[in-house]
Amino acid sequence: MKFHLVTVLPEIFGSFVTNGIVHKAIGKGQISIETTTPRDFTTDRHRTVDDTPYGGGSGMVMMPHPVVDAMEHIDVAYAERDQARPVRILMSAQGERFTQALAQDLSTLHAITFVCGRYEGLDERAVRRCDREISIGDYVLMGGEVAAMVIIEAIARLIPGVLGNPGSIIEESHAAGLLEHPHYTRPAEFRGEGVPEVLSSGNHAEIARWRRNESLRRTLERRPELLEGFTLTKQDRAFLASLQAPKEE
Ligand code: SAH
Repeated sequence: MKFHLVTVLPEIFGSFVTNGIVHKAIGKGQISIETTTPRDFTTDRHRTVDDTPYGGGSGMVMMPHPVVDAMEHIDVAYAERDQARPVRILMSAQGERFTQALAQDLSTLHAITFVCGRYEGLDERAVRRCDREISIGDYVLMGGEVAAMVIIEAIARLIPGVLGNPGSIIEESHAAGLLEHPHYTRPAEFRGEGVPEVLSSGNHAEIARWRRNESLRRTLERRPELLEGFTLTKQDRAFLASLQAPKEE
C-alpha cells in the first residue's frame, strides 16, 4: 500500500517512518510513505501557500493551486503506469468519523493521498478535488499531519504480514465489536497483585471463556452502546445477565 502525504510540514513524518513497525513495514516493502509539499508548487520567492480569507475574518486559508498541483503531481507516476490515481483523503474536522471499520475498508486500497490542512484549512475549490473527508474525532487539531499518522497506523497494521501475529488483529478491541480483555505477563506477582488463576491453568477452553467474559464486562462497563450492534451467544447473554442481576445478600 502506498501512502502519500500532501503537507507543508513534511519534517513531522521524519521519526514516524524511521521507527517501530511502520519502519519495518517500509523495509519489507509492504508499505511506502512519501511526502509532497505544496511549497514546491508555489511561484513566489517566499513560497507562500496561504492567504487571507475572502470576506475577512481571522486566520489564513491554504490557497488552492499549491495543494491541487501537489495532489496532481503525485498522480503523474500512476498515470504513467496506467494505474488509477491514489484515493484523495482530506484530513478535516468536518469529515466522516474515522473508525476501525473504515480502517478496514481503506486497507484494501492500492494507494492513498492524505491531504493535510493547516491554518483555517483549504480553499473550498481544493476541498472539492478530494474524494472524501475524514475526521479522527470531534476536536480541532492544528493540522492534518497527526491525524494522517493515526490513520496510517490503523490501516498499516491491517495489511497482511505487517504485524508479526495476525491473531492480534482478529481479537483486539473493535475488530469484533467488543473491547478486548485485559492482558497479563510476567512476573506472576507484582507489588502484591497476582494474575487471574485461570490464565495459568492451561485449559484453553476456560481461558477463552474467561477472556470472552472479560471482553463483555469491559464493553458493558465502558462502551455499552457497542453491545447493541453485537450478536451475543446464549452464554454471552447469561454472563451479562449475571453481571446485571442484583447481588444476593
Ligand atoms: N477551521 C477548520 C479547522 C482547521 S484546523 C474548521 O473549523 O473545520 C487545521 C487543519 O487540521 C484542518 O484543515 C485539518 O486538515 C486538520 N484537522 C483539524 N482537526 C481535525 C480532525 N479532528 N480530524 C482530522 N483532521 C483535522
